[in-house]
Amino acid sequence: MTGLVVVGASLAGVHAAEGLRRAGFDGPIHLVGAESHRPYDRPPLSKDFLTDEQVDENRLVLRPVAEDGALDLTWHLGTRAVALSNDHGNVELSSGETLAADGVVVATGCRPRRLPLSTFEGRDQSDVDGVVSLRTLNDARELRHRLRSADGPVVVCGAGFIGAEVAASARQLGCEVVMVEVADAPLARVLDAEAGMAVVDLHRRHGVDVRLGVGVDHGHTDGGRLTAVTLSDGTELACAVLVVGIGVIPNTEWLEGSGLTVGSGSDDGVLVDDRCRAAPSVVAVGDVARRPHRRFGGTTMRVEQWDNAVAMGGYGAKSLLAALEWRGNDGEGVVVEPFDPVPWFWSDQYDRKIQFAGIATDDPEIVQGSEGDRQFVRAYFGDEDRVLGVLAWNRPRQAIIGRQLIEAGADRATVHDRLG
Ligand SMILES: Cc1cc2nc3c(=O)[nH]c(=O)nc-3n(C[C@H](O)[C@H](O)[C@H](O)COP(=O)(O)OP(=O)(O)OC[C@H]3O[C@@H](n4cnc5c(N)ncnc54)[C@H](O)[C@@H]3O)c2cc1C
Repeated sequence: MTGLVVVGASLAGVHAAEGLRRAGFDGPIHLVGAESHRPYDRPPLSKDFLTDEQVDENRLVLRPVAEDGALDLTWHLGTRAVALSNDHGNVELSSGETLAADGVVVATGCRPRRLPLSTFEGRDQSDVDGVVSLRTLNDARELRHRLRSADGPVVVCGAGFIGAEVAASARQLGCEVVMVEVADAPLARVLDAEAGMAVVDLHRRHGVDVRLGVGVDHGHTDGGRLTAVTLSDGTELACAVLVVGIGVIPNTEWLEGSGLTVGSGSDDGVLVDDRCRAAPSVVAVGDVARRPHRRFGGTTMRVEQWDNAVAMGGYGAKSLLAALEWRGNDGEGVVVEPFDPVPWFWSDQYDRKIQFAGIATDDPEIVQGSEGDRQFVRAYFGDEDRVLGVLAWNRPRQAIIGRQLIEAGADRATVHDRLG
């Protein structure tokens, strides 16, 4: 084999590279990453990296690459893949180099969605001093500095998980925080309105001014520096730092013309089958990949969660080797079953660990405690009373059991019995 190319040097890509080595693949592996940093973990960036100046950036380096040389990779950091050509046999790089590939792992993740240009009189938000999105280590360094030196209110636009975690971190740093959310309840798409309102209550109790049903309409600047924002209801708020957390867009532009199925809008991402395959010699993994979820009626979804990127990266590696009919030194090939784990994520806000497994449905029910409590468990049911989702609020053990119950297709009575 000439070699394999992994595009995207972050969580899913690094776990794919590790998965290839674990499966015994000893040929060349190229790891191409647009960022120049050694691959690092993103979850701390909205949490203790912001609140604790002592967090050592070396601690963020992803485990599989923390020991230099362990995976024997050919690194192309600070380099973008710009095209996948020649019937997927070539990966063209921004450096001008072309890598010949027997197989390709697409793991290019997502980038933050930006406010429309009209918000800042035709300027991009990145050209306005004081406006920040959070995805990368560079973003987090800038945000950490800005939160510490803010001489006025911090406005967080979007009360999704990233926005809510940043709001919590900013409050812990003593900032005055206003969080605005265009929906009537945050997280209604991921959880449900009632659970979203529990998040709102948590923030209000910690002194965040949460405003629902309004967005940021436009920003006011003085000498290029943000000074205030006007909300969609006409309210003007002084603003030293505007944090934009309004969702993400998958990084798929480089795949234009490649022949892979790349969706847009609510179908965005690289479409893969239940073995993470986008084409005979290409797999896509992590946040960028849209896969069918058989246990949830076969609907295709992108999962923007840490656990998914790790699991899908490792699985995708094996699936690629199986598709290429690669055989190890012992002559054994790789066999994979369809990939269909129950998605799972956590979010840390103040002293709360919020964990959610599965998907939300329109049939939620409290099974332990109540939404106002420090701890509660909420389950979401589907057809035939089978549990499809579990929200565990400061109940880590219940989160694990909940995931197992979804895996097993448990019914309502069993859920009450095990989680109640
Ligand atoms: C601040 C923050 C906090 C989070 N907290 C949590 C949490 O508490 N719990 C949880 O479950 N999840 C959390 N997540 C989500 C989790 O980190 C992501 O699901 C995970 O990072 C996805 O990994 P990935 O490798 O698929 O994509 P990414 O991490 O987005 O990595 C993709 C990489 O590909 C690179 N790239 C893009 N285009 C190209 C190209 N053309 N060529 C080469 N390289 C390219 C990008 O620069 C990037 O480095 C958080 C995410 C963020 C940003």
